[in-house]
Amino acid sequence: MSNADEYDVAVVGGGLAALSTGLFAAGFGLRTVVVTEIVMGGELINLEEVVHFPGMSDPISGSELAGRVEAQALAAGAEFVFDDVTEITKDGTGFAVRGLETDIRSRTVVAAMGAGRRRLGLDAEGDLEGRGISYCGTCDGPLFKEKSVAVVGDHDFAAREALVVSRYASSVTLITRRAEPDLSDATRSAIDESDRIRVLSHAKVETLTASGGTLGAVQIRDLETDGVLGLDVAGLFVNAGLEPRSSLLRGLVDLDPDGFVRVDVGMRTSLTGLLAVGELRSDFVGYAVAAAGDGAAAAGSARRLIRS
Ligand SMILES: Cc1cc2nc3c(=O)[nH]c(=O)nc-3n(C[C@H](O)[C@H](O)[C@H](O)COP(=O)(O)OP(=O)(O)OC[C@H]3O[C@@H](n4cnc5c(N)ncnc54)[C@H](O)[C@@H]3O)c2cc1C
Repeated sequence: MSNADEYDVAVVGGGLAALSTGLFAAGFGLRTVVVTEIVMGGELINLEEVVHFPGMSDPISGSELAGRVEAQALAAGAEFVFDDVTEITKDGTGFAVRGLETDIRSRTVVAAMGAGRRRLGLDAEGDLEGRGISYCGTCDGPLFKEKSVAVVGDHDFAAREALVVSRYASSVTLITRRAEPDLSDATRSAIDESDRIRVLSHAKVETLTASGGTLGAVQIRDLETDGVLGLDVAGLFVNAGLEPRSSLLRGLVDLDPDGFVRVDVGMRTSLTGLLAVGELRSDFVGYAVAAAGDGAAAAGSARRLIRS
């Protein structure tokens, strides 16, 4: 798609932060386009159930939530383009957003590319990705029916991933670096009640061992005693932090030492007209509701900028 017409707001990304930005910006009467690769919904489409969302007392799947916001954004007048954005540059008073088939001009850009799962950084991790190592329990859990697996991560979401995977695997070891992982009461009770999950706290995976080309075992360091434990596992689900997808913005805006985009309370970056929302930005609290709130804040800032 080549579009020489100028948009008011070009949103790059298709997760909840992007969709919410599109919804609010279009609702404010701004000419808005949302550009995302392949499919709308981002991380949400992998979530069987979204919890911690205010007002949502009945269970809702991530894809249902994303679909609803997508429909609302469309109804508000946002346009959607499916493309992989490869370049964001300053262009006169606005910006150029280019993708494999897209060339868009916009007065403001809202970066909403999210973050991928951080790798553990262990030898052979790349080789074993898709061969035992997974970064998505909902997607890959069914591949491990009646097998022993481990899940790595301190956050409530990692523990909930262990619960999802335990529906398929015969045993799940949840390995947390912290002595006390950060679990909600509901998650803690579900983990305690499961006869397939055991928690190994204050420990970290140090070595991956392949067997016949797939993951066969991991070595775990006990951070309290410094002892080492070997564990035979066919799968390792990694949920140990985020890696921001900020490479397109490197050199354009200030990033924090981990590569997340620095923003102010209005989601404004160090470059006027370029905003950043959701998991891509620094100090993001990690919940879907925060991604939606960021979208509203960014749309408000874009409107103020355009009308000033
Ligand atoms: C296992 C797990 C469970 C979770 N459970 C919950 C929960 O129960 N409740 C809750 O509130 N939160 C939960 N979260 C957090 C929540 O899912 C995220 O905070 C939220 O979805 C982040 O949205 P986002 O839009 O910032 O990023 P993402 O959803 O990651 O969206 C980024 C989008 O940008 C697109 N993109 C990236 N680069 C480009 C490019 N160059 N060109 C075009 N498009 C691009 C991607 O394809 C993707 O669509 C969970 C997270 C995880 C990992």
